[in-house]
Amino acid sequence: MWYRLAPAATAVLAVSLLAAPSAAAGQPGGQSIGDPYFPHDGNTGYQVDNYALDLAYQPGADQLSGTATISATATQDLSSFSFDFGLTASAVTVNSESAEFKDQDNKLIITPKVDLPAQKPMTVVVTYSGVPSKVRMYGEQAWFASADGASSVAEPHYAAFWFPCNDHPSDKATWSASVSVPDGTTAITNGKLVSSEKSGDKVVWKWSSAQPLATYNSFMAIGRFTMKNTTAADGRTFIRAYSQSLSETEKKNATSSIEQTPDVLAWESGLFGPYPFDIEGGVAVDAGSVNDAEEYQTKPVYSNVFKDGKDFGDVVHENAHQWFGDAVSPKSWQDIWLNEGFAQYTEWLWQEHEGTKPASKLADEDYKSHDSGDSFWKTPPGDPGAAGLLDDPVYERGAMTLQALRSTVGDDTFFDILKHRVSDNMYSNESTSEFIALAEKISNKSLKPLFDTWLYAKERPANPPSQGMRLG
Ligand SMILES: [Zn+2]
Repeated sequence: MWYRLAPAATAVLAVSLLAAPSAAAGQPGGQSIGDPYFPHDGNTGYQVDNYALDLAYQPGADQLSGTATISATATQDLSSFSFDFGLTASAVTVNSESAEFKDQDNKLIITPKVDLPAQKPMTVVVTYSGVPSKVRMYGEQAWFASADGASSVAEPHYAAFWFPCNDHPSDKATWSASVSVPDGTTAITNGKLVSSEKSGDKVVWKWSSAQPLATYNSFMAIGRFTMKNTTAADGRTFIRAYSQSLSETEKKNATSSIEQTPDVLAWESGLFGPYPFDIEGGVAVDAGSVNDAEEYQTKPVYSNVFKDGKDFGDVVHENAHQWFGDAVSPKSWQDIWLNEGFAQYTEWLWQEHEGTKPASKLADEDYKSHDSGDSFWKTPPGDPGAAGLLDDPVYERGAMTLQALRSTVGDDTFFDILKHRVSDNMYSNESTSEFIALAEKISNKSLKPLFDTWLYAKERPANPPSQGMRLG
């Protein structure tokens, strides 16, 4: 439906050319970045270099207001462009000049006074406000307010609930956020804590992330937290925060798991290569009965997942995503198994490491638990569709795929592939076909039959994953 806008946009272009004949002959940026699962998302006319948010938040009223300064580079001569956005803009400037804008179907469409030349930097400042918990995008709510704060959900395309962005993992950018909240309230987001300074009855929290971030890995958690900011044994800054409204038991269980993060990261670094970020951490929020854990960059956010204080599965899983998803992000959402299959397999590797069971046995047990008539096999992890994006087969059969690969190429080659996957694509993106090509190159084997069977067939593979595949 977005392509129907083209005639109107062309009309705007014609007017602007008449008004300014010397301007670059810009065209509107395409109002879809081209994701096959989420064609509404993103814009092709620019790539974001940095998001700088300067916000104020009023708990209770759930009122968010401020500015987003978005530094980007035009990828074409550009007459107009859009951000994904759910709140209400009141002013927009482009390169310090006020620009026309309109809200249309959760897109903020901006027409600068003069066309923007390709390959040149552009700076867009959006002044905005709203009540994010009232926003519905794609029929969903993704910002949850409580009496003393709020927390956000971002995957796959909900960051736009609270800041204007090119909301697709293929456009990663560095990040900073300054958030003013009532004194006694903490506002936490990605990256390092730059400062927290009192200003009257407010406190301003400033965070920044030097490594680029996919928008779906951004988060905001506001509330009354007990925060610890220390140096871990590995020398990195370790920031964790525990909601003060958790029960004593919840807090005890969350603490005993999240405090293990440096040890988990040390083990994962041995498998995948150095931890990709300068900050490590975790946040335990109180989101009522919502059971959730999300891999937000540098600080996974956990809600109601730690049952007994001995369960490190979620810490292992969400921190595995710091490599698989955060540092190396999927090129499109169809590549989601590159996130979830790897994080699930890392949980199995953890059990192998702990001496509970080998990953190969866990993979086979999972395979055997789904007989050939089970609908589980109808969702191929290599193409689960938007509706099946985060369904069990993406995780479990994705992880079985990795066991099948490991059993086929052997441990040394397998772990070499994992390390190269990270180092070759650090802070960037990778597609499934690129991963397969990498695995073939490192193993010196033609692996198409293996991946066709495990990622794409809509039926149960003939043999359990531990048997690998004999390749011709
Ligand atoms: Zn995951």
